[in-house]
Amino acid sequence: MIELTAEEARVLGCLMEKAVTTPDNYPLSVNALISACNQSTNRDPVVSYDESTVERALEALREKSLSRRVRATGQRVVKHRHVVDEELQLSVPEFTMLGILLLRGAQTPGELKQRSERWHAFRSLDDVEAALQQLAERGFVRRLERRPGQKEARWLTLVVASADLDDAADAEVSVADAPVASAPAPLAEAAPAPPPEARSLDVHNPATGELLRSIASTDEREVEQKVERARRAQKAWAARSYPERASLVRAFRDLLETEVEECARTTTREMGKPITQSRAEVRAVLERIDWNLEHVGDVIAPREVTPRAPGGVGERVTYEPVGLVAHISAWNYPYFVGLNTIVPALLAGNAVLYKPSEHATLTGLGLVDVMHRAGVPVDVVQTVVGGGASGAALVASDIDMVCFTGSYPTGRAVARAVADRFVRLQLELGGKDGAYVCDDVDVDAAALATAEGAFYNSGQSCAAIERLYVHEAVYDRFVDALCEVVGAYRIGDPEDEQTDVGPLARAAQLDVIEAQIADAVGKGAKVVVGGSRIDRPGSWFDPTVLVDVDPRMQIMRDETFGPVIGVQRVRDDADATTCLDDTEFGLGAAVFTSDRARAERILGALDVGNAYWNRSDRSSVRLPWSGRRHSGIGVSMSESGIRALVREKAWHLSEA
Ligand code: NAD
Repeated sequence: MIELTAEEARVLGCLMEKAVTTPDNYPLSVNALISACNQSTNRDPVVSYDESTVERALEALREKSLSRRVRATGQRVVKHRHVVDEELQLSVPEFTMLGILLLRGAQTPGELKQRSERWHAFRSLDDVEAALQQLAERGFVRRLERRPGQKEARWLTLVVASADLDDAADAEVSVADAPVASAPAPLAEAAPAPPPEARSLDVHNPATGELLRSIASTDEREVEQKVERARRAQKAWAARSYPERASLVRAFRDLLETEVEECARTTTREMGKPITQSRAEVRAVLERIDWNLEHVGDVIAPREVTPRAPGGVGERVTYEPVGLVAHISAWNYPYFVGLNTIVPALLAGNAVLYKPSEHATLTGLGLVDVMHRAGVPVDVVQTVVGGGASGAALVASDIDMVCFTGSYPTGRAVARAVADRFVRLQLELGGKDGAYVCDDVDVDAAALATAEGAFYNSGQSCAAIERLYVHEAVYDRFVDALCEVVGAYRIGDPEDEQTDVGPLARAAQLDVIEAQIADAVGKGAKVVVGGSRIDRPGSWFDPTVLVDVDPRMQIMRDETFGPVIGVQRVRDDADATTCLDDTEFGLGAAVFTSDRARAERILGALDVGNAYWNRSDRSSVRLPWSGRRHSGIGVSMSESGIRALVREKAWHLSEA
């Protein structure tokens, strides 16, 4: 007997329905399945495949003797047995989902949870096959075969012949010949629907595991109440003059400056960032506020385009606030990510509902408290506390704009959640930035700079260097120098001024990192520094350098978000350019060379939002910050970021 969540039941229902569809309506059913799977990651109910629909589908199968027994228990769990003896043709994502279902069917509840958090492990055909191989070894799959030379084949033929699911799911798998032109994005990339919010959020110190505080989470009803209050307050706030709003934001900035130390300590305790780095972030954010105070007024000032266009019409543009901005934030740079949006949004006359990350909640609450103490009206900037469910409730509420910073899967879920509303959306998502070290560098300096780019904030930066490509002429010397720098890092208490590398903010990331390293080593990579967790309370991982990596490995494809770097040898600039661009992300790329023209040539050819010459992992309030492809849409900071927070009104003015 397999117990399935409602989402899984829906997917299984789709799979089983497919077993009885004809070849003619097969493509239709593929689309239905994929859309059901995609929708199942939303909180919205899935219309076409809810439990009763699935039950009806299973019943229909039963009548055709394809399913022996169907039973529903409770609201969310469907139990069933099935016998499908027809041949199913599955696309890669469907096959992936089946792999997950099979795996889950064989796990304990604790392991199930872990498994579902590791959907990323099923991102490629190889991963699915590896999972099935494991099942085969445990006697769950009777035969697993892949025809030689079918590496790129996208269609799989799956024969499910499960006689008795009480004991095991038996599956026979083979790879068929016919390739498809393009398969949809793997399901594994989709974020699972957030679990219901707990009544309170426990904040732990990742350096020790100690519970720092429990804070009441914001539920859906409270989100709505906050939105109503913010809606009313925004009108009055926008009606104030710009200098009045600016004077309150300046008061906030000045008060924050007097509290740099407390703010930095709070952040270090709740997310483990070394204290020197937390302090540097708070100080740097003061400069960003200054820049906004200096520029927002000019950028949103009415613009006379022409007093007299042809026909005697005057033309003018004014800028009005978007209204109610929901800002959902990541934890890794909580001051930058929070205030890059909140400050210009407030200056432009918006109200902000700010949901700090569950891993930087104390920091977020502290920031907003400073704003309120400085005189910013309490309903104009409010916090929403909690994890994914609170974020989803905020996204579902009556807001005008969502500014989201977080991972690609969550960003996709947010985009779907607002897709049928005209809500303005900005997504600042993950990255897999590459850096190329040319043959003309000072090797020691390049090793120092790239290590900084990879390991600052324990590698937990969206624009951290996560892939290193080194010209073969300097490769050996560079790797030696890099290992020396990384091996000398002082790892320890993040509150200690001498610490270079602290713990990871999220314990769950340790599993991701371990899995990526295991995958790389399994495919031929070598660990030359670090490579494992550090055995102490809290969540710690040794700074790690891998060599002999290649693009098949997860470590060179998926975001790692931890203190790990893979180093790959490249032949020349052309080879390096191809490697740098070989990613689904598009946040940034760096080139280390003494020749600026060479760097500009390479960087100019790349599909990234940020180009770095002899630098990396840097953002500036004066420059637009944006990602491409899976790294997001929209722009923050600079004049473009300010304009993103206002709406233009075009005036056509005629005397008569
Ligand atoms: P995450 O996606 O897990 O969470 C981000 C935020 O979304 C959190 O506040 C979370 O509570 C909320 N959330 C979760 N599920 C939600 C849902 N269904 N609806 C609405 N909100 C939801 O990411 P994270 O672990 O907090 O941050 C790390 C990620 O952020 C990395 O991928 C990193 O690269 C990225 N990041 C990007 C930038 C950038 O500027 N591009 C900056 C910082 C971090």
